[in-house]
Amino acid sequence: MTARLDHRNPLVFDTHELGRRPGALQRLTRTVDAPKDFGIQGVIGVPEGAPVELELRLESVMEGVLVTGTGRAQAEGECVRCLEPLQLDVEADFQEMFSYPDADDRGRHHHGAEPGDDAEDDEDRLFLEDGLFDLESVLRDAVVLALPMQPVCQEDCPGLCAECGARLADDPDHHHDAVDIRWAALQGLAGSLEDGEKDEMSGAEPGVDEKQEK
Ligand SMILES: [Zn+2]
Ligand SMILES: [Zn+2]
Repeated sequence: MTARLDHRNPLVFDTHELGRRPGALQRLTRTVDAPKDFGIQGVIGVPEGAPVELELRLESVMEGVLVTGTGRAQAEGECVRCLEPLQLDVEADFQEMFSYPDADDRGRHHHGAEPGDDAEDDEDRLFLEDGLFDLESVLRDAVVLALPMQPVCQEDCPGLCAECGARLADDPDHHHDAVDIRWAALQGLAGSLEDGEKDEMSGAEPGVDEKQEK
């Protein structure tokens, strides 16, 4: 179903050192370049090629290798309220079992990665290939899960002015006069029509009763 794993791919890991001895442990760290599409499309994500720091713990168990780890990277996106670019440190934890291709079901549940995780379907199982495993999909899922669906530049970002689009965080005192400029223009026009040609310079004073509730 997939091409053979390439041990030169930085997201492919080798478990040979564990030697298929249940209980054997190996810890390792590695910094890799983020692959493509590492985030939530169009919302926020880790740019392709940006560093992702990985900390992994490989544990040999009966049916395979249990991989527990954390990925750290910096995601980029834009604030959903004010549309300013933002950066966000993301820390994604994951745990996944990579089974030996010849593992039978007998040993499967003896070392459940997560107790009660019986929903694991066979087609979702990941396998070791020649002692190698590919972390990319596991890491991607974890990163996506760790990212906010609605990123904001700050928790209380006030967003944009509904009338003129100004970024309110830059200008806390921002406001518009109670009478909308378009409304004022209409009133001015109405006033000059009523007044006829005489004395346009005095300007029409907006009638108070014409003012709309905001
Ligand atoms: Zn914002
Ligand atoms: Zn405004």
